[in-house]
Amino acid sequence: MPSQLAAYPESYYTATMNRRLDFPALQGETRADVCVIGGGYTGLSSAIHLAERGYSVVLLEAERIGWGASGRNGGQCSVGQRKGQDDLEEAYGKEEAQRLWDLGVEAVATVRQLIERFNIECDLKRGCLQTALKRSDAAWYRQYAEHMHSHYGFEMRYLEGAELEYFSGTDVFCGGLVEYASAHLHPLNYALGLAEAARSLGVRIFENSRVTGYDRVKPTRVSSREGSVYADYVVLACNGYLERLEPRVAGKIMPLNNFIIATEPLSEEQQRQINPEDMCAYDAKFVVNFWKLTGDGRMLFGGGENYTRRFPSDIKSFVRKRMLPLYPQLAPARIDYGWGGTLAVTMNRMPSFGRLEPDVYYALGFSGHGVQMATLAGKLIAEAVAGTAERFDVMARIPSPTFPGGTLLRWPGLVAGMFYHALKDRIGD
Ligand SMILES: Cc1cc2nc3c(=O)[nH]c(=O)nc-3n(C[C@H](O)[C@H](O)[C@H](O)COP(=O)(O)OP(=O)(O)OC[C@H]3O[C@@H](n4cnc5c(N)ncnc54)[C@H](O)[C@@H]3O)c2cc1C
Repeated sequence: MPSQLAAYPESYYTATMNRRLDFPALQGETRADVCVIGGGYTGLSSAIHLAERGYSVVLLEAERIGWGASGRNGGQCSVGQRKGQDDLEEAYGKEEAQRLWDLGVEAVATVRQLIERFNIECDLKRGCLQTALKRSDAAWYRQYAEHMHSHYGFEMRYLEGAELEYFSGTDVFCGGLVEYASAHLHPLNYALGLAEAARSLGVRIFENSRVTGYDRVKPTRVSSREGSVYADYVVLACNGYLERLEPRVAGKIMPLNNFIIATEPLSEEQQRQINPEDMCAYDAKFVVNFWKLTGDGRMLFGGGENYTRRFPSDIKSFVRKRMLPLYPQLAPARIDYGWGGTLAVTMNRMPSFGRLEPDVYYALGFSGHGVQMATLAGKLIAEAVAGTAERFDVMARIPSPTFPGGTLLRWPGLVAGMFYHALKDRIGD
């Protein structure tokens, strides 16, 4: 069976996988209470939380567990939602913003609890630094830290001058924010650990089992190339790889590609200089740069996007060009790995949760904030399937507009928008 399985794309993460899990392809017919489609964090967390509630679960993954964004991302597990609380208050009112904040805090706690409970080794560390290149962004950071303290009792420290230089290991930034509630981890080892946990709870996992469609009679028949699952509930957890499987949802997201490199291991002195507190970090650019040290002391740096089906031919140079202006001291460092992945963004950069029929649930479009929110999505879906949808509905009632032009014409609008914001990134102050 393993010989039929697709290979994982080459990356620092696949080179440092700490367990090898090979699951068979689905063949023939089977029955389950719930069929989960997709083996990333959304699908795995749904499967775990459903199995814990006593449901029988089959999970179908088109490629390999963690093959999608969940096995390729920056590993940043940031507290809160993708949008700032000030934006959420303005858009949805103070009470709803508070509910969203509480869920955003619980999301990181859920990741931590799963890691602890199932003994998942995935280089979990704490702390996150945000950095600004423009004075306008730095001014916003200062204001935001005060707002979070006075309205949410959440401590973030505003940084500048020597302190900022110490935390960031460079003198290019003019303002920063640091907090210790966020975390970072090895994303693929986290996904594989979740799969092992799901298996231990009786979830039947199938890889190399791309779902080609499902019907709407009860129980729902979910079909893959060589088999079918009859299930009372379906969970759609395909995110940026959804393609045409569910046209009613596809227009709510825009798949886009993001890229990461990892240098050779740095000396201890270099590591201490670049990132003395071993935190994850990201900047305030619209096309965001994000970085951290790996468990074995490499600089892992992500940045740059494209919106086509193809990745750049030389990902290492594509991303290195974004890293060197921030960390010129890394010019001599060899780049050992470069890879890309596909994520899904929504129009308002908040995830899209919902139900299609009363028994088909979906959560996708985490907009680069899915390590924790996709994990939480699985927990909320399991609650909703079990009959308590209150918390799922806090997420589901966030409006999730369809991209203008739907799946066919969304590209030109997106590309124009991205160029505009990329230009703004380059303009000072
Ligand atoms: C380069 C990169 C960097 C990122 N950095 C961060 C970060 O630092 N922090 C953060 O919070 N988020 C980050 N993200 C986003 C984060 O990785 C995602 O939000 C999260 O992994 C989404 O999980 P998911 O399970 O919904 O989707 P995925 O992990 O993409 O999983 C979807 C799965 O569905 C499967 N699938 C699709 N169609 C079918 C089908 N028809 N049948 C069966 N299976 C199917 C796919 O093969 C895939 O494995 C990043 C993403 C990328 C690409």
